[in-house]
Amino acid sequence: MTHMIHRNLRRTPPTAVCAFGMYMRDSDGNTYLDASGGAAVSSLGHSHPDVLAAMGAQMKTTAYAHSGFFTTDVAEELAQRLAADAPGDLNNVYLVSGGSEAVESALKMARQFFVENGEPERRVFIARRQSYHGNTLGALALGGNEARRRQFEPLLMDVARVSPCYEYRHRPAGQDINDYTAGLIAELEQTILETGPASIIGFCAEPVVGATLGAVPATPGYFKGVRALCDKYGILFIADEVMCGMGRTGTLYAIEQDGVVPDLVALGKGLAAGYQPIGAVLARDHVVERLRNGSGIFQHGHTYNAHPVAAAAALAVQKVIRRDCLLGAATVRGTTLRRMLRDAFGTHPHMGDIRGRGLLVGLELVQDRDTMRPFDPDLKLFAAVKEKAMDCGLMVYPMGGTADGRRGDHILLAPPFIATEAD
Ligand code: PLP
Repeated sequence: MTHMIHRNLRRTPPTAVCAFGMYMRDSDGNTYLDASGGAAVSSLGHSHPDVLAAMGAQMKTTAYAHSGFFTTDVAEELAQRLAADAPGDLNNVYLVSGGSEAVESALKMARQFFVENGEPERRVFIARRQSYHGNTLGALALGGNEARRRQFEPLLMDVARVSPCYEYRHRPAGQDINDYTAGLIAELEQTILETGPASIIGFCAEPVVGATLGAVPATPGYFKGVRALCDKYGILFIADEVMCGMGRTGTLYAIEQDGVVPDLVALGKGLAAGYQPIGAVLARDHVVERLRNGSGIFQHGHTYNAHPVAAAAALAVQKVIRRDCLLGAATVRGTTLRRMLRDAFGTHPHMGDIRGRGLLVGLELVQDRDTMRPFDPDLKLFAAVKEKAMDCGLMVYPMGGTADGRRGDHILLAPPFIATEAD
């Protein structure tokens, strides 16, 4: 007997046989409303004709070109477009095959920047607890998702940790929101000083925390404070927009809403909306100029860098988002969705919080609404919720809480931007 290895080694998931618009169908004839866009990926829904046509046309001309030998018009056009729409001088684009690769590439570019800047002693990253930055070893080390890290801990580089910006659970009752934010910035500065500013490469965070906290945006001024500290100590700020980027929160880049420009941005998921595996790193001029004027080489690379069919899919997705005004749709539909959820569940005894930005929406489930007491993590509520929802023909993306109660159970909703109110 041969077996395909699935995430759950004891259970084979349903077989998807067709997908169209907001819906997916399995081989038993069950239909599912894709309310999570897979894992916040499918921003255009399934089988979008423009994207399929663009991929088909690219396949007929150049289906593959190794980036060590060639570039392609489609990859160049995608890079130009992403940079042109990005804030500030994030003018440089490196194309990879997914979110974890994007984060790995950003980490290595940041390290190489300092090596070529004559500061090889910089070797530490700072990241937040209850964060997720991917599953490859560098990205896993960076992330603060304890459950995912635990057994791989001996293989992971040391990362300095600070608290996430998680108002619902971490802001003490009665504390002013500005004081809460100032406290987080003070904690980051303290960590920088204790770690030794001259040994730090960068600080990495998700502008809106996706999988690990459930659609949690930063409080006003938080990222301005982060940017100011990074500037003060000469540290690079890396924004992980793998989940929250590419229009998911109503602007192409989520960090636009915080009014700061990171030094590096990692993209994935919504970049090609699931039609092809692709990710990207955007870098500011000063980062790339240092490498260009130094060794002239970025010491990194993958076989599928700047894959032309993936680039064609991503470029088509970007064009559809612009042509069909889908950033506005994500904002409006997200507001409507949160209102409808509040109307339906706002006073439910187990509904702690309904939050998010654009069409990245989180529902935090609690045992007790007044005390915010989370459920016992041993209950594995998130697994039960996912299964029950699938039984009802609904795809949602739940995540479990932690035993210390610093993170609760939540359900992430990330429907395609084409969703109607009726959906
Ligand atoms: N960064 C964030 C914020 C993510 O949400 C994810 C995936 O969920 C990743 C990185 C890793 O992306 P991928 O699964 O495409 O490797």
